[in-house]
Amino acid sequence: SSSLAPADQALVDGVLARQLRPLAKTITLIESLREDHRGRAHKVLEALLPHTGGAMRVGISGVPGVGKSTFIEGLGLYLIEQGLRVAVLAVDPSSSVTGGSILGDKTRMELLSQNPAAFIRPSPSACSLGGVAEKTRESMLVCEAAGFDVIIIETVGVGQSETAVAGMTDIFCLLQLPNAGDDLQAIKKGIMEIADLIVINKADIDPVAAMRAKSQIKTALHMLRPASPNWAVPVLTLSALKKQGIADFWNAVMDYRRTLTDSGELAAKRRHQAMAWMWELIDSELRSRFRNHPQVKQELPALARAVEEGSTTPSIAALRLLGHL
Ligand code: GDP
Repeated sequence: SSSLAPADQALVDGVLARQLRPLAKTITLIESLREDHRGRAHKVLEALLPHTGGAMRVGISGVPGVGKSTFIEGLGLYLIEQGLRVAVLAVDPSSSVTGGSILGDKTRMELLSQNPAAFIRPSPSACSLGGVAEKTRESMLVCEAAGFDVIIIETVGVGQSETAVAGMTDIFCLLQLPNAGDDLQAIKKGIMEIADLIVINKADIDPVAAMRAKSQIKTALHMLRPASPNWAVPVLTLSALKKQGIADFWNAVMDYRRTLTDSGELAAKRRHQAMAWMWELIDSELRSRFRNHPQVKQELPALARAVEEGSTTPSIAALRLLGHL
């Protein structure tokens, strides 16, 4: 695009030429919280957009210690053996608090990070989960423009981050431990409902327990309404450590892609995700403009008190404040 500054055009050209340094620099620009960087990042993204959409987007979630990084490294190396290029991104809202990320860390996936066909990027830190997720979504698009065939987005199995990752990926995979009760937690938190594929890891430790967990989860899944009429959520057992079951996992992912592509559901899912993303941004931007509006700031304390005291109604106060927008 002609409106790009030369330095940003160089980023675009470098990304499209599949160079890792411009890719990393573009993601750094996207992650920046500076207002002028935001504008530049949007222009770079717009230039890259026609080259996106080609990757299989895979979400992977599970509690700390379940074996995510061991599994992603094994899967990544397997995919590279098949001639594919693999990017690993992370959504870790806790990175904002601690300043350091517990996910997507290169030291956790040493072999994969040294492979030239792989790109690993830790979670961005931003003030909110929404902010982290937005930046990861945009980074995913940049990785697609850089020709990666598979984008893995990793998240911890705590809080709302699973929903955010399921909302930006084609297939959402949940890693479970072979303990009874573990699956009940996931059901309670509503995570099993958004899983397209469930993996019981560490099956090498106790294969009998793993099989028992598998049948328990299958029973539990029968009680949930399937997200797609064409897809019964598979439950696989594997050992990330022994690298057993990784090919079966990938075959299931490919099976999912084929099934949902044929039914048109995958394209619809991506359209729906894009619209949901847009509305999420509109909602959060509106909210922040509202709260920062000078007249709203001025009138809010008195009106809030009036609502608390019952001297005005919530709807009258809300409409009066919204009138300033
Ligand atoms: P994460 O926190 O989910 O990323 O988990 P890690 O990949 O760091 O794994 C946590 C621990 O479990 C490490 O000590 C791994 O070596 C071990 N681990 C991971 N996968 C397996 C597995 O399939 N079998 C066994 N026995 N141990 C595993």
